[in-house]
Amino acid sequence: MKKILPIVLVLAILFGFAACGEKSPIDETVTATFTAEISTTTECFHSWTNATCTEGKTCTMCGEVISSPLGHNFGHATCTSPSTCTACGETTGEALGHQYLKGLCVRCNAKDSSYVAYGTIQGTISYKHNDFVGHKGDTGATVMLIPYNQRSNLEKFDNSRAAIGITGKYESGIMVTECDGNGFYIFDNVPAGYYLIFVISKNTTDDRAFDNPSGYKDMIANTLFPDVPQKDIERITILIGAHKYIKKVAQVTENSTFTFSYDFGETFY
Ligand SMILES: [Zn+2]
Ligand SMILES: [Zn+2]
Ligand SMILES: [Zn+2]
Repeated sequence: MKKILPIVLVLAILFGFAACGEKSPIDETVTATFTAEISTTTECFHSWTNATCTEGKTCTMCGEVISSPLGHNFGHATCTSPSTCTACGETTGEALGHQYLKGLCVRCNAKDSSYVAYGTIQGTISYKHNDFVGHKGDTGATVMLIPYNQRSNLEKFDNSRAAIGITGKYESGIMVTECDGNGFYIFDNVPAGYYLIFVISKNTTDDRAFDNPSGYKDMIANTLFPDVPQKDIERITILIGAHKYIKKVAQVTENSTFTFSYDFGETFY
């Protein structure tokens, strides 16, 4: 790069001879002014950077810029990240967020951890009233729905009300209901999963409970042991008394209905 540098040189020379003991002081001032134009040539051995999204190709030595910035190359935003420049990582806007339908994101297939699928369990519990009337609904029979194979989790809860047959949906996941006048029962909005359906007859008793009460209690405990905490087994055993009971493992899937119906047979066997 060539530059004409106007250089003004001002040369002031002052000769001062102070009269000090001289008889004739001499004051002489010489002022000289030079104006010169000096032509210079400065050559930069450029060192170019690569152009970036935001800066053109630039010389690191002299700062000269010889191209425009490349500009960002923004990709599409995704569920979890905003639109991002493929070159420099700069982002713009916001992530789209998942769009869930039935527990899965329609865009990226991510699972919705808060999604719960629900199904239904229902059925009819009956017994043989007598030869003349035949079979009737086991009205008032208690039906318990107990999360299957979750004994250790159930231990964390107070299940005492559920275990004595009080109808309701409990925090532990246990549900209790009663058969209606036709022996029909239903649990709806049951979270998907495996359950133990445990039915305690209202209108039938088991001879074994009278012949061998402790044996009958042991049998109940063995039936419930894998799934129900000990203290709850004790309460349920009292609730059963001498009545007949039956258990069944059920699987609930989304929007499905699992049907379990059972006939306890003769009133006193
Ligand atoms: Zn340069
Ligand atoms: Zn960029
Ligand atoms: Zn998604």
